[in-house]
Amino acid sequence: MITFGELSVKNKLVAVVLLTNALVLLAVGAALVVNETHSQRKAAQAQLVTLANVISANTVSALLFNDLKAAEQNLAVLRAKPDVPYALIDDPQEKTLVEYRAVELTDEQRNGIWRWRQELEKEPNPREVTAEQTSLSKAGLLGVQGQMLAVKVPILQANQLLGHVEIYSDLRELSENLYRYYWILSGLLLGSLALAALLAAWFQTMISKPILRLRAAMGEIASTRDYAVRVERTTEDELGALVDGFNDMLAQVQRRDAELATYNARLEATVATRTHSLASANMELQLTVQELSDARQRAEAASQAKSQFLANMSHEIRTPMNGVLGMAELLLETDLQPKQRRFAEVIQQSGAGLLGIINDVLDFSKIEAGKLELEKTDFEAQTVVEAVTTLFAESVERKGLELLCALPPEPIAVRGDPGRLRQVLTNLVSNAVKFTRQGEIVARLAVLNVADSYTLHSYTLRFEVHDTGIGIPRHLQERIFNAFDQADGSMTRRFGGTGLGLAIARQLVELMGGVLTVRSSEGQGSTFGFTLRLERAAQPLAQPVDTNALRGVRVLVVDDNATNRQILHHQLQAWGMRNDGVASGHDALACLRAAQTSADPYVIALLDEVMVGMGGLELAAVIQDDPQLRDLKLVLLTSSSLPGAIQEQARQIGVSQQLHKPVRMAQLRQCLCHLLRGEIGQGGRDAVASPPEGVESALEWRDVRVLLVEDNLVNQEVAKATLAHFHCAVAVANHGQEAIDWLGQHTCDLVLMDCQMPVMDGFQAAACIRARERAALAETGQSVHLPIIALTAHAISGDRERCLAAGMDDYLSKPFAREDLTAVLERWLPASARLLAEISPSVASSLPAANDDLPVIGIEPESSIDQGVLAKIRVLESSGAIGLLARVIALYLQEAPLLIERMRRALEMHDGESLRTVAHSLKSSSANVGAMKLHGLCKELESWAQRGQMADTTGWIVLIEQEFLTARALLRQELPANPD
Ligand code: ADP
Repeated sequence: MITFGELSVKNKLVAVVLLTNALVLLAVGAALVVNETHSQRKAAQAQLVTLANVISANTVSALLFNDLKAAEQNLAVLRAKPDVPYALIDDPQEKTLVEYRAVELTDEQRNGIWRWRQELEKEPNPREVTAEQTSLSKAGLLGVQGQMLAVKVPILQANQLLGHVEIYSDLRELSENLYRYYWILSGLLLGSLALAALLAAWFQTMISKPILRLRAAMGEIASTRDYAVRVERTTEDELGALVDGFNDMLAQVQRRDAELATYNARLEATVATRTHSLASANMELQLTVQELSDARQRAEAASQAKSQFLANMSHEIRTPMNGVLGMAELLLETDLQPKQRRFAEVIQQSGAGLLGIINDVLDFSKIEAGKLELEKTDFEAQTVVEAVTTLFAESVERKGLELLCALPPEPIAVRGDPGRLRQVLTNLVSNAVKFTRQGEIVARLAVLNVADSYTLHSYTLRFEVHDTGIGIPRHLQERIFNAFDQADGSMTRRFGGTGLGLAIARQLVELMGGVLTVRSSEGQGSTFGFTLRLERAAQPLAQPVDTNALRGVRVLVVDDNATNRQILHHQLQAWGMRNDGVASGHDALACLRAAQTSADPYVIALLDEVMVGMGGLELAAVIQDDPQLRDLKLVLLTSSSLPGAIQEQARQIGVSQQLHKPVRMAQLRQCLCHLLRGEIGQGGRDAVASPPEGVESALEWRDVRVLLVEDNLVNQEVAKATLAHFHCAVAVANHGQEAIDWLGQHTCDLVLMDCQMPVMDGFQAAACIRARERAALAETGQSVHLPIIALTAHAISGDRERCLAAGMDDYLSKPFAREDLTAVLERWLPASARLLAEISPSVASSLPAANDDLPVIGIEPESSIDQGVLAKIRVLESSGAIGLLARVIALYLQEAPLLIERMRRALEMHDGESLRTVAHSLKSSSANVGAMKLHGLCKELESWAQRGQMADTTGWIVLIEQEFLTARALLRQELPANPD
């Protein structure tokens, strides 16, 4: 059902008007009906009473004369009143005299009349009846049909009651009148309502029309978005104002729209312009990007070409350099005239210098290309600094400078790249030496911080190189770190150099996590320094040294250089030594004598060789001449290796020990310990330097066979000769294919593989060897790994990776020094194959040419003992290794039976790997004592074990045992006191 709220405005208006009208009309109608009914009834009553009175008056005479007829005629007039159905005249006793009855009296009327008569009879007879005395039925005012009005009027004659007139009216007329009246009223009401509806419909249009129009306009705008639509104003009232407001609003919207459209258009124009310029900028950008990309490609190609050029250049220069340096080194080891030696030395030095420049250029390009990678190995920081300063001892001495090392006393074992650190320090010290005319150079290492947390174990170390040289003007102090920049262009002429050293050093330091800086003032000197945080080495590199013997010992340091005095003071103090320092010989003598008389004499005096006034030697002589001071142990700190005669003179004067400056801490400590233990006699009678000056340690790998794969004949010669120093057997292949073929037939312990070769290069050959090893593993289940060391003149980044990727194990950059090869052999050959010997250069040169007595591959020696090998050991003995032969033989005789026993056990257990290792071990120790037959047998056993051929080996071990007994008998003869 629709509620009022849901009706449209129009219907609401109509409904309101109609409802109001209907209510009003109903109220008015009801009032009229009530009023009309009331007045009509009153009138009817009055009329009936009047009628009764008239009849009563007319009947008086008839009753007086008892003329009932006339009385009846009087009643007969009632015929004119159709609504009177019954009337009567009675006597005073209420006995009906005459009656009037309407013809058609209904039963209902009759019953009603009868009931009324009963009522009227109960009432006292009225003398005079008024309208009020008429009675109406109780049914209501309206006198509905069936209701009766009764009037009883007395008939009086001079106050004598003659009777009564009773008239009964059924109010028919009244009812008819009232009905008519109702009808008319109803008609009027309906007519009014209809009129009201019409008027409402007409009026509502005046109100709803503008609203509807507004609604229609809104609908249209909503669907068409046309804000030009306007609603016509038809009234002046609030609706008119509403329409105006609506139109105004539309106008504003339209104006906004127009403005918006204008803005839009402007914006679009701007956007179009911008888009256009952006498009052109984009185009330009694309072009630029393209150009840049082209340029980058060109630059990359150029850089690659540069790298390639550097690689090639390095290869091309290093290959002949290898020959030059290697041959010069070998040449220097032969007997040469002094003049020839000098020439050879110059060749070697110039070669080394040239190699340094090539290395610098390569390093620089490597760093520039971001291809330089740092190593991570454990090393002792002091050792690096000391090693660097030692390198310059000679040049410093030539220039008359002091080169000092100030180091912390405790060993600092760290993890990092010692090679690169050495390179940086070498550059700094080399510059310091180069740019200092007089004074001192101090290489300093200080521990700034030790982090020892749960997760972090590191040292923060400060490295500094200080000099008292020419200094660098402030404005040039940054520039010198640029590549190819020197503080002063004229320096190149004066001092040489490429201007690359500091650029490389700074970048290396940065790679290590530090910053290389300089403090300098012109004419005063410079201090270059950097701070590094280095991880601690996992384990201490050296056993802690026992310095208890030094504790409390009184030492006098005599040196005119205050810095050196200070450094020595700190070092001696760190070992618990009581020490004083004086600057001159005179002060020293005074001090020594004073101490002597105070009963607390100095035990050791460290004398600087070169001092203003009294020099070290002179002072030593004075001391020795003084009987009081003769017990004093003297250590001479020399700036150079003294010429033999002076050295001898020093010994004779009574100098116990001579140490080279910069003095290595370990060396000094060891020297002091020896002195105190009395191991070094006074006066140099059995003076042995520690380590003995000029004596170097050499390693030998006698039973090792190395396959050298190299196409260059000179390089072959150099490598062969260098390997000969280590007593390795060498087989040579000219290219990769030859090496592969050779390896198909033979075995070896290590391969030195050149990378660039004709037919098959080193990378392919290495890959091929590894593939074979894998195939062998799959076939026999035995894992064999032949160490392959790349030899390359390509010292640029990426080579190492390429070599490793090809399956090689290590990398040796040509030209390689003997130490480099030693390091590689040490790393890759079994420790059991190594023999340590000490040889002095003089002894080395007196050794038979290494090449001549190379064990010849494949040929077994006839004799059980090779006397040549024993002779070599004897030569070593004569150079200081006293009792070496006896020691070696005794050790061998002790060890060999145990090894043979282990061989047996390995065979019983079918443990091929152990058998191989033990055979190898006995093979190499046999070679060390010249038991070459035994060596050959062991070698064979080793290769069988390696191939897993264990079946035939039982008999072989018996052979080995027999051969050992033979060899033992022969070797025992070599022992000074035969244990038997
Ligand atoms: P160079 O090979 O020319 O020595 P470096 O890069 O090592 O190249 O040094 C660049 C320049 O810095 C040197 O030419 C010199 O002018 C200046 N320089 C470096 N170290 C020192 C120093 N200790 N004292 C004075 N000048 C120095």
